Amino acid sequence: MKLHEYQAKDVFRSFGIPVPPGRVATTAGEAGEIAREYGRPVVVKAQVHVGGRGKAGGVKLAQDPAEARARAQAILGMDIKGLTVRRVLVTPAEEIASEAYAAVILDRAARCATFMVSRAGGVDIEQVAAETPELIVRLSVDPRYGLLEHQALGLGLALYDDLRQARAAAGIFGALWRVFLERDASLAEINPLVTTPAGDVVALDAKLVIDDNALFRQRELEALHDPEGEEPAELQARAAGLSYVKLEGSIGCIVNGAGLAMATMDLIQYYGGDPANFLDIGGSSNPDKVLNAMRILLGDPHVEAVLFNIFGGITRCDDVANGLVAALDQIKPDVPIAIRLTGTNEEEALEILRAVGLPATSSMDEVVQRAIELARERTSAAGRQAVAGRQAGGGSSR
Ligand code: GDP
Ligand code: MN
Repeated sequence: MKLHEYQAKDVFRSFGIPVPPGRVATTAGEAGEIAREYGRPVVVKAQVHVGGRGKAGGVKLAQDPAEARARAQAILGMDIKGLTVRRVLVTPAEEIASEAYAAVILDRAARCATFMVSRAGGVDIEQVAAETPELIVRLSVDPRYGLLEHQALGLGLALYDDLRQARAAAGIFGALWRVFLERDASLAEINPLVTTPAGDVVALDAKLVIDDNALFRQRELEALHDPEGEEPAELQARAAGLSYVKLEGSIGCIVNGAGLAMATMDLIQYYGGDPANFLDIGGSSNPDKVLNAMRILLGDPHVEAVLFNIFGGITRCDDVANGLVAALDQIKPDVPIAIRLTGTNEEEALEILRAVGLPATSSMDEVVQRAIELARERTSAAGRQAVAGRQAGGGSSR
């Protein structure tokens, strides 16, 4: 779960990281009012869940309240990488002497949390990593000890020649490490970490991503969730207790168990198809889960066929078959369905499905090939219909 800059800054501040004050406005008038209260130049910053707001015109300096109002007027409602700006952060402008980069990331290759710091801050760090990787200093943190003081100071010295600034940065890294750990983050980033002409080290931007699987123990952060920009179907699935990830293909998959779901997606690709999603309905045969899963898949216009793949271990196949029949009876989908059930009470299950005219198999290879074939048939039938439609319309719609 991503936090907005203003939310992340509140967290950083509560851990003792020096962050400029700031307030959020949803209207230009409010932004002007906040600027008037600060009584000095401010920066008006779009609050959306994407990076590179500065380059996109979503971060603007304003000398006085009237200009702050005008800047907010321009930024509110702006589209930044497909997201509409609904809030701006108004913050007193800092004078910048230098801009650095600092972050704790989850390094999957090193299998631990890793600090990344660079003197090349303020800009796109991906670009730095690609073009001048030698400008990035990395330090993996041993989870047994956490970030040790001498390591923090080493990172500080990687950014600043001035010892006082290096020490200030080391303090910030210690706090950033605690944010990462105690708030179950997968990313805690400051870009830019600036020095002011007076020599202070300050976090001008803040990015914090919380591990979704830890939200149960981060209720205060969970309450800050802003779904703007997230896949609606994924939100719907989460609410229904399903693990669902939307993909780009045409074969919708309903599978029980994450491992089987992965294997199913692999096999679809092996036979030349493309999965439309990852979906694990879990171990129960609850018809509601099947129903919700069906609704979510059918809401995706790219889905041309649904592949239903269930392994009955503790889950009984006949229960699942009954759930499936009930679900299909309610939804009456117009996309074709290929079904595979195997395991406990498989025979009974196949019989239940056969009785209502739903062909099913117990072979995984067979069902995957069948689903791909059904999707292809439907796509080409749709293509033929579109051509026929254009011909009937005399081609005037072209
Ligand atoms: P991002 O583009 O989404 O990462 O947004 P940032 O918060 O990092 O802002 C982009 C750039 O705007 C920064 O790298 C700074 O150069 C500039 N900026 C942001 N806040 C201030 C400020 O308070 N004073 C000044 N002078 N520049 C700022
Ligand atoms: Mn930034």
